[in-house]
Amino acid sequence: MEKSHTVFILSGPSGVGKTTVWDEIRSNHSDRVEKIVTTTTRAPRPGETDGVHYYFLSKTEFEAEILSGNMIEYALVHGNYYGSSAGELDRIVSHAKSPVYIVDPQGMAHLKPELMRRGYRVSTVFLLPPSIDELKNRLRGRGTEDEGALNIRLANALVEMEEKDFYDHQIENDCLENAVAKVSAVMFARS
Ligand code: ADP
Repeated sequence: MEKSHTVFILSGPSGVGKTTVWDEIRSNHSDRVEKIVTTTTRAPRPGETDGVHYYFLSKTEFEAEILSGNMIEYALVHGNYYGSSAGELDRIVSHAKSPVYIVDPQGMAHLKPELMRRGYRVSTVFLLPPSIDELKNRLRGRGTEDEGALNIRLANALVEMEEKDFYDHQIENDCLENAVAKVSAVMFARS
């Protein structure tokens, strides 16, 4: 198996800008990096496409993947499985690209050791908000949560920030352009 491409993990608290930074990088470098698509047993929502938003499997199919050792990591959330498969990683590497995981800090804790156990080189980036107040503004500005959910996310963010020292790189997402340049520098340092 070809494992020469580094696998990147981009993490940080919810609302810090992981998706925004990734969208910028992908739009300029889609020939070199590709996001890992998650596999799930939850039903597709209107507008969601298999293989684009998620890979949709039945519970039986997902459990067969677990038993065959094909799930790198997975979790059962509200009765549905979510996880990432070794097949997805191999698909991206076989196109001579570097796979990128965009995960919350909890996800990284399982992922990095498992990827290393499977022989991959792993590089991890933690995106930092300029301040907790600014993180709150971004979550509020995104408009995806009500006030109760927002306070839970912020409380989680404070705990998640404690994880930052376990990452190879900590990059502040203050000015978007600078953050994109710094994350890109990490991803494309060797090529
Ligand atoms: P995450 O994927 O980490 O949960 P998002 O990418 O959804 O975060 O970003 C959360 C909100 O913050 C979005 O509304 C986005 O437009 C905004 N945002 C992201 N990066 C910046 C930045 N550097 N400056 C200001 N706002 C930003």
